[in-house]
Amino acid sequence: RGTTPVPPESRPRLTVLSGPSGVGKSTVVAHMRKEHPEVWLSVSATTRRPRPGERHGVQYFFVSDEEMDKLIANGELLEWAEFAGNRYGTPRGAVMERLEAGEPVLLEIDLQGARLVRESMPEAQLVFLAPPSWEELVRRLTGRGTEPPEVIERRLAAAKIELAAESEFDVTLVNTSVEDVARELLALMDVV
Ligand code: 5GP
Repeated sequence: RGTTPVPPESRPRLTVLSGPSGVGKSTVVAHMRKEHPEVWLSVSATTRRPRPGERHGVQYFFVSDEEMDKLIANGELLEWAEFAGNRYGTPRGAVMERLEAGEPVLLEIDLQGARLVRESMPEAQLVFLAPPSWEELVRRLTGRGTEPPEVIERRLAAAKIELAAESEFDVTLVNTSVEDVARELLALMDVV
């Protein structure tokens, strides 16, 4: 009635969730996957050391600097970026397989990576996860308790710059409730 439904084949299948470090991207994604394990999430490669409880192949593929050099040189990453002293990248092959099969794909990556995806895949849907307030973001970044103060400082500095990038994104979701944001994200991905 007055609106033309978007044909399935032109719906964005690649969704990029980005936003400042500490805003809660991985919490939202974890919640979403608990409810909808069928939603496929790309597992990134990183040179960062695993945090307690993180496992190789689950949260990340934890790789050495030399292995990361190779992945980059061989063109095996869809995008990669340096963040707070470590490199992070999205393995290209697995993402392309899913997209070619017409399945929805979710990337949870930093802002630089989101910009690179926008350039190489303009049809991607870019979603910005914003904190309810700056104070809340500082509280979350400080409260993680797993990082030394200088690492937290670096992440706060990055977050301040990242917050300004909201206008480059297609959609903003404000992370006031993990459940609500996860639901909104699923709707954007056309899963529910
Ligand atoms: P963390 O060390 O807290 O797990 O992640 C730090 C930042 O790197 C987060 O903003 C996270 O979204 C981002 N990140 C994780 N994987 C990738 C990736 O493959 N590419 C890019 N560009 N950023 C990533």
